Amino acid sequence: MECVFCKIAKKEIPASVVYEDEDVIAFKDINPQAPIHLLIIPKNHLSSIMEVDENNGDLVKKIVKVAQSLARENNIDKKGFRLVVNTGDDGGQTVHHLHFHLLGGRFMTWPPG
Ligand code: 5GP
Ligand code: ZN
Repeated sequence: MECVFCKIAKKEIPASVVYEDEDVIAFKDINPQAPIHLLIIPKNHLSSIMEVDENNGDLVKKIVKVAQSLARENNIDKKGFRLVVNTGDDGGQTVHHLHFHLLGGRFMTWPPG
C-alpha cells in the first residue's frame, strides 16, 4: 500500500497525532507553513474532495467539528485561521489522500501564490 496518509492512519509510519476517532485522524504537518499547521484526514482513503459523496455520510461535517475543536484547543479560534483543501494539480495537491489543512498562529495574506 503506497499512500502515506493511509500509512499514518494505520500507524504504519509515525506522526504527531493530535486527535483521533474511528473515522478521522489529525496530526501535525511535517513541514509546517505556520506556527500551527495540522492535517485532518478521513481514515478511509479518498483521493480528493471530489470523491466525497453521500456514501461518506457526515464525514465533512465531522471534519469541520474536529477543526473547530482543534482551533479552540490551539487558541486560534478567536484570532482566526485557514481551513484549506488543496485539490488537483492547479490546487497544489501533493498527497492524494483527502486532507484538510488547519493553519494558524500568524497573519496570512490572500490570495495565496
Ligand atoms: P498538499 O500539498 O497535498 O495539500 O499537502 C500535503 C501536506 O502533507 C504537506 O503540507 C506536507 O508537508 C504534508 N506531508 C507530506 N508527507 C507527510 C508525512 O509523511 N507526514 C506528515 N506529518 N505530513 C506530511
Ligand atoms: Zn490514503
